[in-house]
Amino acid sequence: MERTLVLLKPSTIERALVGEIVNRFEKKGLRIVGMKMMQLTDEILAQHYAHLVKKPFFPILKASMMKTPVIAMCLEGVDAIAVVRYITGYTNGRKADPGTIRGDYCMSNQQNIVHASDSPEAAVEELNRFFRPEEIFDMGDLNLDRLYAVDEL
Ligand code: UDP
Ligand code: MG
Repeated sequence: MERTLVLLKPSTIERALVGEIVNRFEKKGLRIVGMKMMQLTDEILAQHYAHLVKKPFFPILKASMMKTPVIAMCLEGVDAIAVVRYITGYTNGRKADPGTIRGDYCMSNQQNIVHASDSPEAAVEELNRFFRPEEIFDMGDLNLDRLYAVDEL
């Protein structure tokens, strides 16, 4: 069982798509084990997008991520990190496959609805960055028998 970080970006909040996007993850069978609204800061974005701070588009990206609060979610499931990336789709919404969140909900390379952790290492680091331990909940066996075969767990 893995845990991964999803951020519903300001583009999702502004366009009133929160319910639809949360619904996609819930219907897939990913369990929400943490969820909160928060205003991002210069400091957290410099860490979160450390691989992009030197890019010319970073100031615009940072401003777009601070325009409204975001909703941070911790999603849990077998292979959750890869599954969430797959559902999220390619970075640029104009090139993302139909059926993916970015492919279905956006036209932008930047205002692309969600962030999703891209590796097990990133998931651990990002969950520690956005959540305190007590903000992530242990759901135990809840619904697992409906979501997976016994030998998948
Ligand atoms: N981004 C951008 N311009 C680019 C590449 C990325 O504005 O040319 C933004 C976009 O919002 C993207 C985020 O920076 O989601 C992080 O980029 P990354 O390459 O990590 O893409 P992701 O993992 O989100 O698909
Ligand atoms: Mg990334």
